[in-house]
Amino acid sequence: MIRTDTIKFRSDLAHAYNSFGYRALLINKSCNFYDYISYIIQDDDNTEVKCHLHKNDIVMIQEEDYDKSYAIIKGIFTHKGNDNNYYPFIYVDWFEDAYQTHDKLDCPKFMLYQDDSWHQIFPLTVINEIQKTHFVHNCTTRCKDDDHDPNNNQYLKNEFFFTII
Ligand SMILES: [Zn+2]
Repeated sequence: MIRTDTIKFRSDLAHAYNSFGYRALLINKSCNFYDYISYIIQDDDNTEVKCHLHKNDIVMIQEEDYDKSYAIIKGIFTHKGNDNNYYPFIYVDWFEDAYQTHDKLDCPKFMLYQDDSWHQIFPLTVINEIQKTHFVHNCTTRCKDDDHDPNNNQYLKNEFFFTII
């Protein structure tokens, strides 16, 4: 559950607007959340590529303040700017490299970052790669099928998943 009435949410949203040069004080407060969004981007050859983004997708984000990092989409929402246009944003939880590998699988371990000192709201356009990275939960006996133990914040990055042999 993402709370939109917090100072942290408002300041992250303002920061996200600033990142594309929009500096006015935000008037509208309400945000509309979606589980899914599809949109079209133009790649370098001007080819249009249709993108789909779902809540809980894992994406790679490259943002000025951070290096390339991985994040999980916890919310997709639009907010009405002062110019009455709706702007799409994502709300993420960041992964932090644990600089460890799993004993048996030899995959890098990541943890969900639990401090809220990192910005968590970004314009949709910040996403570089959707699901080209494959993370799996480092499941414990408390996980059942798709019902993962929320108290375990460890994930493994499967680096072999997209290797075609
Ligand atoms: Zn699990």
